[in-house]
Amino acid sequence: MTAEQVAADEAAVDLPAPPSPQIDVDSAGYWAAAERGEFALCRCAECRRWLHPPLERCRYCGGTTAFEEASGRGLVYSFIVVRHPSIPAFGPLLPYVIVLVDLDEGVRLTGRLLGEPGAVRVGLPVVVRMERLPGADRPGVVFAMGEPGGRQAPGSSVAAGDPG
Ligand SMILES: [Zn+2]
Repeated sequence: MTAEQVAADEAAVDLPAPPSPQIDVDSAGYWAAAERGEFALCRCAECRRWLHPPLERCRYCGGTTAFEEASGRGLVYSFIVVRHPSIPAFGPLLPYVIVLVDLDEGVRLTGRLLGEPGAVRVGLPVVVRMERLPGADRPGVVFAMGEPGGRQAPGSSVAAGDPG
């Protein structure tokens, strides 16, 4: 358990639950994988390109799509440091970083970055972790600092599928 999770657990009693995702027919496969602690993205069955946001049909060739497990590795394209508690449930995590990540699969994804805000920079290698915040009804994507290939920065690990 990270220091962030401990702080969130201690404060969770008086906080509302984190917002729940609006799951639809296109994103259901993503959230089903997340519930199993897996990171999956939509992929075309014909041309094999990855698609995010997910689509029922491929935007390149019109082929059928399905969710497949993805590497979760990528590089920070951009980021913001959040210092104002715009989402009450995230208040104990302040300040925190939201990163826009260029994944190895060729799509971009946003998520919260674990670790000290001062360590973030454009081009930083990161890797997906699934994290369930206190009170959340399902796990969601967060990013840990790490090197492509799996090596992680010290103190940035959250076990995949950890129910918190
Ligand atoms: Zn395609």
